[in-house]
Amino acid sequence: KADTRESLYLVSEYANDYFQKILHKTDKGRAIGLSYFKERGFTEETIKKFQLGYALDEWQAFTDEALKNGYKIEFLEGTGLTIVKPEKHFDRFKGRVMFPIHSMSGRVLGFGGRILGNDKKAAKYLNSPESEIYHKSKVLYGLYFAKQSIAKEDNCYLVEGYTDVIQFYQRGITNVVSSSGTALTSEQIRLIKRLTNNITVLFDGDAAGMRASIRGIDLILEQGMNVRVCTFPDGEDPDSFSKNNTLQDVTDYLKENSKDFIQFKASLLFEDSKNDPIKKAETIRDIVNSIAKIPDQIKKEVYIQECARIMDISESVLFSTLAQINKKAN
Ligand code: ATP
Ligand code: MN
Ligand code: MN
Ligand code: MN
Repeated sequence: KADTRESLYLVSEYANDYFQKILHKTDKGRAIGLSYFKERGFTEETIKKFQLGYALDEWQAFTDEALKNGYKIEFLEGTGLTIVKPEKHFDRFKGRVMFPIHSMSGRVLGFGGRILGNDKKAAKYLNSPESEIYHKSKVLYGLYFAKQSIAKEDNCYLVEGYTDVIQFYQRGITNVVSSSGTALTSEQIRLIKRLTNNITVLFDGDAAGMRASIRGIDLILEQGMNVRVCTFPDGEDPDSFSKNNTLQDVTDYLKENSKDFIQFKASLLFEDSKNDPIKKAETIRDIVNSIAKIPDQIKKEVYIQECARIMDISESVLFSTLAQINKKAN
């Protein structure tokens, strides 16, 4: 079993070298993959740092090369890099730029692959499947590169995608990770908690990003961590925003727009229906539901006070609502 896992790591690491070699050393790789990354604003240094690669647009280019180099088909299949069908096999990733996903200690667990351009027919990102070495719910993209910086800054930026991590890192904000490819899990949050108690959620300025931030907040609070939220202008994400702004602009923006989770939830209301009492009641209930997730009693009380102040409602009604929620939960 340990042997199998080691074999899967070796295949993944071979593949990682292979995809990078294709990107840098072949005409197609350079013309298609490398120029794609450059168009996105990634420097040569960044591309090397994150070990980005390219998978040729061919049916079995990778698998054939791996077999020729002595890697066994069962392990190629075990990583999900090769799909085995009766009488034939083919590559999972073809015609995609490749983002290797590392463990906290830097081993290659799997890949994300992006189509070039914006072809609506193919899935934009394709990820390695779950395997004996890749458990999506327990991995954060970028953590291997960000871990020291997260501890040093005592804060972790949580973004949605691979390119958000990379562009932020290149801009000089290196304490950044992403749950790329899955909805955020409590196991992922616990990985961050080993390094800091503070998470700032930076999701895309679109409806999907907003929904994902709201889901993330409660999970983070449940872990007893502090959560702030910063949203981006409509249609922007951390990648596009940091690509088009200086480091100073980005840090200023983060400072000015990061909100405590209560302010964030309250501002959702004030934006669309400040004067609608039903909406306001829903928002208050929603905030108290989040506060109920906080394990620490003192923090709970402080947040109740904060909520009462921001939403202009008495603390006592909030405390009794909190008691009701706790009773229901038990
Ligand atoms: P890009 O900037 O390259 O277009 P993005 O990261 O901004 O990508 P989003 O559409 O904002 O992409 O999606 C956020 C994340 O969700 C992606 O980085 C990827 O991990 C995941 N994702 C997006 N589309 C898909 C898909 N079709 N299949 C699987 N995962 C996806
Ligand atoms: Mn998005
Ligand atoms: Mn995005
Ligand atoms: Mn993007």
